[in-house]
Amino acid sequence: MHELSMAQGIINTVLETSEANDATEVKKVVVEIGKLAMINPEQLLFMMNVLVEDTIMEDAKIEIVDIPVEIECAECGHKGNGKVDEEDHYVPMIECPKCESNALRILNGQDIIVKSIEIEKPDD
Ligand SMILES: [Zn+2]
Repeated sequence: MHELSMAQGIINTVLETSEANDATEVKKVVVEIGKLAMINPEQLLFMMNVLVEDTIMEDAKIEIVDIPVEIECAECGHKGNGKVDEEDHYVPMIECPKCESNALRILNGQDIIVKSIEIEKPDD
């Protein structure tokens, strides 16, 4: 269950950061998910909403943002969004949209990032 460990990892990161900043409550969290991260956003969101119970991010609004796949083509030098074949969920095929080469360097779209955290502090 990939999404479960990922959800727990994100929550741990958010809680650690928030507690380090003396937060009393986490109000909003934005999580970026790359298209190649092999994560089902709905499942991730569901699990996060379960796992935040009884933490300071219990009432936080969790926003998930999809990140497109960015590539640099070794054949023609094209830089930009890669063409992703999403038929196969295990190993997505990525092609250069210009010359259809598979010789690519992936610049973006593989990571899961906690983009921003909004917290409430005692003084606010
Ligand atoms: Zn190309």
